[in-house]
Amino acid sequence: MEKVAEFYQLMDESATIRRIMADYYLLRMASPTQIEFLKRIAVTLDNAPRDQQGVLRLKDEQDRVVLIKDEYETSELQKDIRFFEHGEALFLNYLSEIHPGFGEELQQLCTFIGSEPYDLFFTDRDGTVNNYCGRYRSSIQPAYNAVYLSRFGKTVRQTPVILTSAPLMEDGIRELCVIPEPIYVLAGSKGGEYSTFDGPRVSRPVPDWVEKAMDSLNARIEQLLQQPANHVFTQIGSGFQKKLGETTVAYQDVFGSIPEQDSRRFVDELHRVVADVDGEGHHIRVEDTGKDLELMPTRGGGTVSHFTKGDGLRFLVNELELQVAGKRILICGDTEADLPMVEAAVALGADVSAVFVTSDKDLRGRVYETGARCEFVSTPDVLVAGLDRSASG
Ligand SMILES: [Mg+2]
Repeated sequence: MEKVAEFYQLMDESATIRRIMADYYLLRMASPTQIEFLKRIAVTLDNAPRDQQGVLRLKDEQDRVVLIKDEYETSELQKDIRFFEHGEALFLNYLSEIHPGFGEELQQLCTFIGSEPYDLFFTDRDGTVNNYCGRYRSSIQPAYNAVYLSRFGKTVRQTPVILTSAPLMEDGIRELCVIPEPIYVLAGSKGGEYSTFDGPRVSRPVPDWVEKAMDSLNARIEQLLQQPANHVFTQIGSGFQKKLGETTVAYQDVFGSIPEQDSRRFVDELHRVVADVDGEGHHIRVEDTGKDLELMPTRGGGTVSHFTKGDGLRFLVNELELQVAGKRILICGDTEADLPMVEAAVALGADVSAVFVTSDKDLRGRVYETGARCEFVSTPDVLVAGLDRSASG
């Protein structure tokens, strides 16, 4: 493996295999061939060219070197191989080896969650029930994680929801998620769009002018990204994400993979695209996060992305006809953007329990302030293991 494109192809293959593995496992069938496939992917990754720090050195279509820190991809593959090869008890031992304090945290979390089934479950994905990956496009859910979440999801009385700010489809969470069964509703764009297992995409209505501006903007950005010099920007960090009423384009990643001048040239080109779209009578607001540009149509200062995950929860409660008042709901998150889910559920009169994956004192304080029962853990692995254990009673 030498090319970045091959890296992504490999990770996409791992998604297919992992989906099958999780499926067979939940049906209590063995899948030795799939483990071999997964091992082969791990070996290919292992043998790929690396620098002295162990960072992958791959090439884009123009033979420029792209550095990829594949810590997430490699460690999650190793975890999957252990889970399926050595069994669940030894897998938990392994998790306690790699996470100091895992056993105590797990114990405490299980006491908090309890064994009585929840009526509802809303959870964020990245950094919450899925370990954080520096590259959105290859943040494939591991199969062990899908097994754990499937088992817990089945115990929830009403449809459980995975709610993320990432887009739903076209390199969205539908492709990244390997849960094999129709247990969860997947919701993207902070809950503004969702689909059941393989059902159609449903989205909340957005004004006509937003849709027109987004179509024009996205078509131009796609053209720009098709140029060989720019294709690499789909392969780093946040990549290219078409959300509802907002588009994210990465121009750099946390590893600084892109040379400064290339990055700057691409940002200039994106600004020219925005100027062109503005020239058509739209107005696109540009927010620079330091690694990505977030582009959203605006009118009178308003944008569609003022929508929070709390609005998303409310939208889904209506759409899926969920009963919330007086019901036991578990909400999981890891950042401030997840707080509105907790607040919305409290406001809707639910009996809310919240688990946040964070050691940030301010954020912990803000979760307490919502009035929900709350618990905190240090890593997504503790959370998913705890959910699984509470599902098995
Ligand atoms: Mg998150």
